[in-house]
Amino acid sequence: MSQVRCAVVVPAAGRGRRMGGDTPKQFLPLDGEPVLRRTLRALAACPEVEEIVPVLPPDWLERGAALLGPPGGKVRRAVAGGATRQASVQAGLQALGPRPRVILVHDGVRPLVTPALVREAAALAARGLCAVVGLPLHDTVKRVDAGGTVLETPPREQLWTVQTPQAFPSDLLRRALERAAALGVTATDEAGLVERMGVPVRVVPGSPWNVKITSPEDLRLAEVILREGWHARGPGI
Ligand code: C5P
Repeated sequence: MSQVRCAVVVPAAGRGRRMGGDTPKQFLPLDGEPVLRRTLRALAACPEVEEIVPVLPPDWLERGAALLGPPGGKVRRAVAGGATRQASVQAGLQALGPRPRVILVHDGVRPLVTPALVREAAALAARGLCAVVGLPLHDTVKRVDAGGTVLETPPREQLWTVQTPQAFPSDLLRRALERAAALGVTATDEAGLVERMGVPVRVVPGSPWNVKITSPEDLRLAEVILREGWHARGPGI
């Protein structure tokens, strides 16, 4: 089978309030290099990826570009994001070149993504499916109200945490985002919008090393993973 070709939208327009400080987390150094620059470099190293559009906070376009270095190779000029993650992904989609058949969305704050995760997600999307990278949960999950009282304990066997990349046939992602905007619906990931359309979404086994950097602890953890090279060796140690 010929190799799948895909474009990647990288939403990185969040403010990262959980991290504290003025610099959004995607621009903080991870072992000396800004998190987002590492993410873009990791994606550019994937043979399936042809084009990458980073989406930045509007007031960080200039400073961000300075930290990321000049666009070139597979990485396009960054575009300004919106108030929600969905709006940021939409802005990234509009900046893509002539309609790629498969589009991946990958968080700017997951710099330890690997070619294997990209390949597996993209391959499913090339077959017309929507795919998310995820892991089965080992902890028990409880739904808790604002006062700290447990409301319910969903059965764990069916619970997974999902990561990115998430991969879509291009038309499906565009339709899901347009429909959500028209209905005023928001979801915390793009696959959630596809599910709302009644379209099945498949899970690709992810990696525990594909961490999302949202707190100072995550940044420390990512430094250890990176130095040990665990992410490059796949899910086990
Ligand atoms: O919102 P969450 O913490 O899940 O952020 C995941 C990714 O979405 C981050 O890389 C963040 O920068 C991005 N994001 C965005 N535009 C927003 C909010 C979040 O691109 N308005």
